[in-house]
Amino acid sequence: MDGKAEVAAAAEALRAGGLVLMPTETVYGLAADAGNARAVAAVYEAKGRPSFNPLIAHVSDLAMARRIVRFDARAEALAARFWPGPLTLVLPVADDEAVCDLARAGLDSVAVRAPAHPLAQALIARFGGPVVAPSANRSGRPSPTTFADAVEETGPATLAALDGGPCKIGLESTVVALLDAPRLLRPGSVTRAEIEAVIGPLADAEDDAKRSPGRLARHYAPNAPVRLEVTEPRPGEAWLAFGPGGSGPWNLSPSGDLREAAANLFAYLRGADRTSPSGIAVAPIPHEGLGEAINDRLKRAAGFVG
Ligand code: AMP
Ligand code: MG
Repeated sequence: MDGKAEVAAAAEALRAGGLVLMPTETVYGLAADAGNARAVAAVYEAKGRPSFNPLIAHVSDLAMARRIVRFDARAEALAARFWPGPLTLVLPVADDEAVCDLARAGLDSVAVRAPAHPLAQALIARFGGPVVAPSANRSGRPSPTTFADAVEETGPATLAALDGGPCKIGLESTVVALLDAPRLLRPGSVTRAEIEAVIGPLADAEDDAKRSPGRLARHYAPNAPVRLEVTEPRPGEAWLAFGPGGSGPWNLSPSGDLREAAANLFAYLRGADRTSPSGIAVAPIPHEGLGEAINDRLKRAAGFVG
């Protein structure tokens, strides 16, 4: 089968209410028809995800987004600058059937994003409507950034699976709520500074579990305990190094490049975890720019965020 036939088959699977492994530039998603409550329920079930945690609706373009949410000037400006790409906007719902109640966890807002990966775009365009696509991991586990990891996590629950190779970015999208004052609900590879350059200052939502119910403790956790900001690993610990001189197989970026570290983060957490170490020790990672999102995911892996 060539890529086109696979996309057509995957769109057919979505139409039938089935789940599909969908590659995106951030992480692999477990996709379903956003308007089909039974399909959406199957996503929550396959992930073991609590149903109070709403899902992101993925669209092929701005026109499809406008059918489901109401854009204001700030949303227009951010979409013009960052779509398609790794930025999710939380906006007031316009059509409460296009993204069903269950996918929104009953909220009157929808999180929406247009992914940049060509296979995701082709699938959503071919399907012709929004698809929910949370990360394809079982709830509480690190997000899959390779096809093999995605298949291992939730492959058995799917009717179709698209192999898009390793995810270029490797971290989930940045989430910004534009319901009142703009808030950064989840840091990601579109940085705080890049967003503030377009719409001005962002409020934080670190403790705002009601606005972004997904911000739970140990959200991105491997099995082994994780220690952060470690300069010297203990015997038996796997070592996630960063920068020149960091020894071992799991150096996130020997040259100290944050983009490379983000792309490797979840795959290395999984890889290190598979060796059944007594723990995973992670080197200090700078907090600036993309480092904010990397450190956010690491804090969750270590169970520090409540
Ligand atoms: P995930 O599907 O795991 O990538 O997570 C999606 C993130 O977007 C979670 O943190 C959700 O809590 C957040 N989210 C989705 N929909 C909404 C919404 N309507 N309002 C606020 N946050 C949302
Ligand atoms: Mg997730």
